[in-house]
Amino acid sequence: MTDYPNLFEPLDLGFTMLKNRVLMGSMHTGLEETKDWNRVATFYAERAEGDVALMVTGGMAPNREGGVFPGAAGLFTDQDIANHRIVTDRVHDADGKIAMQILHAGRYAYGPECVAPSAIKSPISPFKPNELDEDGIEKQISDIVTAAVRAREAGYDGVEIMGSEGYFINQFLVTHTNKRTDRWGGSYENRMRLPVEIVRRTREAVGADFIVIYRLSMIDLVPNGSTHEEVVQLAQAVEAAGATIINTGIGWHEARIPTIATSVPRAGFAWVTKKLMGKVGIPVITSNRINTPQVAEHVLESGCADMVSMARPFLADSQFVKKAATGKADQIAPCIACNQACLDHTFSGKISSCLVNPRACYETELMIEPAAAPKTVAVVGAGPAGLSTAITAAERGHAVTLFDRDDQIGGQLNMAKMVPGKEEFWGLVDWYQTMLEQTGVSVKLGHEVTADDLAGFDEVIVATGVTPRDPQIPGQDGKNVLSYIDVLKRTVHVGPRVAVVGAGGIGFDVSEFLVHNEEESPSENIDLWQAEWGVTDPETHRSGLAPEGPQPHAPFRQVTLLQRKAEKLGKRLGKTTGWIHRAALQMKDVKMVGGVNYERIDDQGLHVSFGEARENPTVIEADTIVLCAGQVSNRGLADDLAEKGITPHVIGGADVSAELDAKRAIDQGTRLAASL
Ligand code: FAD
Ligand code: NAP
Ligand code: SF4
Repeated sequence: MTDYPNLFEPLDLGFTMLKNRVLMGSMHTGLEETKDWNRVATFYAERAEGDVALMVTGGMAPNREGGVFPGAAGLFTDQDIANHRIVTDRVHDADGKIAMQILHAGRYAYGPECVAPSAIKSPISPFKPNELDEDGIEKQISDIVTAAVRAREAGYDGVEIMGSEGYFINQFLVTHTNKRTDRWGGSYENRMRLPVEIVRRTREAVGADFIVIYRLSMIDLVPNGSTHEEVVQLAQAVEAAGATIINTGIGWHEARIPTIATSVPRAGFAWVTKKLMGKVGIPVITSNRINTPQVAEHVLESGCADMVSMARPFLADSQFVKKAATGKADQIAPCIACNQACLDHTFSGKISSCLVNPRACYETELMIEPAAAPKTVAVVGAGPAGLSTAITAAERGHAVTLFDRDDQIGGQLNMAKMVPGKEEFWGLVDWYQTMLEQTGVSVKLGHEVTADDLAGFDEVIVATGVTPRDPQIPGQDGKNVLSYIDVLKRTVHVGPRVAVVGAGGIGFDVSEFLVHNEEESPSENIDLWQAEWGVTDPETHRSGLAPEGPQPHAPFRQVTLLQRKAEKLGKRLGKTTGWIHRAALQMKDVKMVGGVNYERIDDQGLHVSFGEARENPTVIEADTIVLCAGQVSNRGLADDLAEKGITPHVIGGADVSAELDAKRAIDQGTRLAASL
């Protein structure tokens, strides 16, 4: 008997059967562009072996002008078809099913040849698109249909036609981007002609026994987006045109509302998909911020959809479905929705991976195999660097002892999890705890390790992390000055007016922590979160935008965030999430001040000046000053060991503190353990 009866109910599509209700959503990993087809095939085959019912590939361009970037992968030649055949064969050998996403980017395509219904530049692209004429539109439809036919030739079980997130098809649907006066613009019937024709002609070309998923934008979250009635009308029309399944898209890429970041509540948009249930006869899939089997089951049980789509969770753990099916849900490595190794990589032109699972997309390179000669291994420090080393080394058969001076595992993750909007870190620490038990690591907490404790181990790993940097501000020894550690551990009182010294990741997080009171986190309350960001029911307001805009709660404290650099604060935060952190603090009236010199601290607050000439002396009046001025490596133990002639492996923050994050710590720890 399964804990997830709805999740594991097969879905009969008439001509084929899906073994459960889980779809792996499309992700652009960059793997196809490596042209290493064994690597691409291994990535998908591993997930098929993990029993996901159906996977959707990253977006494939139907033609050059529609590619997301120049050189974007697509099925253009016979060789391309043969290459993709390697992938589909491996997936089928693993008893899986896979559909190819056809993604025409329209005006989001990164190049001067991009095309769109009207020549209107997107706010997130430097390129003004070329307006298509009738023949141009016919060519785009025909290229998309050809891509679907080739996908079938390449062995795919179906295609997903990307009609959401503000791409080409979406651009036809709304007056915001479609100003045409011919039969492709004007009335809604005209504007929806493009997707309906694409689906109709695709179905005609591929035959009846081929999955055609239509990804439909159910809430655009941009001004003048679709109404709910239009969404329903389109859904019914694509069903009539031959779609097998409707998948959910949430928000255009240019929307200023987060849709998948970690601060979005879990399953925070499932209610939007639910509005379509009962209005079409084909299965409907929901998506966004579903990352555990419990959440997925709840979404299905409460009638929000017929199937759930999860994408990033399959980077974090390829065996998600199998573990859920076999009573091992607590062993599923959790996707914490950080975007740090997946989307941030994609948007920086790097191959995707996963913060939690560095093997993602590196399956053919980073092998975790049984150790040839098991050793005794001491790991000092149970932060992410030490934890990933310990569980990986133990999994390989080494006898691992993990020490930490703290009385809990997690290191700095225990501070991250205290920040409103970062609650997913709780699950990550819990997962490490489970995996330590599963892999048989001997854990010794509350033990400050010295070099003498480590004699006799075959391998010693120092993962002792970092300590706060001393900014040496005159007056910083006063009672009104605190470290981020005291604040996040909630061991101290913080006054109502706060100056935060340092605007790196921690300065931003501490500010977020301080503007909330201790009870509420909008990330755990969908209604509250929607009010904060100005999201409302698309049935009452077009596009799901609240007419009154964001209505955040008043800030709990008055915070000023400072840095010495004269650049925009938060410029170096995550590529796809930095804007969210900045917007969230701006909504809470956090004052951001750059280009300061810290002169001194006294009872009045923090005294600063500006520029090299130390001009414009100013007092930031504050009851409390919190120091978040970066960190330095904690290498004392490594140095003591070296003095005793023991050469340890030094990893994580203890190795290099500059630009340290959990992604690097886990990657380094896992790779080291794989090589021991
Ligand atoms: P640590 O996590 O610092 O762990 C070191 C461990 O060693 C500690 O548990 C310590 O008690 C132990 N130790 C030290 N000396 C000894 C000794 N002699 N004997 C025994 N034990 C010892 N990173 C991200 O990637 N994404 C984020 O969103 C993110 N958010 C953050 C938010 C906050 C508020 C903070 C503070 C950090 C955040 N980070 C984030 C950073 C991330 O947590 C760190 O980069 C990461 O934890 C560093 O890992 P580590 O294992 O090297 O060190
Ligand atoms: P950080 O990002 O290096 O920021 C340190 C801040 O302190 C900067 O604003 C810096 O700006 C300031 N600073 C540096 N030296 C100073 C000095 N001597 N006196 C006063 N100010 C000084 O480090 P962090 O905020 O401590 O974060 C640590 C790591 O954790 C980061 O590398 C980060 O990637 C990671 N982290 C990540 C996230 C995330 O969401 N991804 C969140 C939290 C933390 P100026 O030099 O301009 O003053
Ligand atoms: Fe999830 Fe972060 Fe991994 Fe991306 S990098 S898959 S968001 S845990």
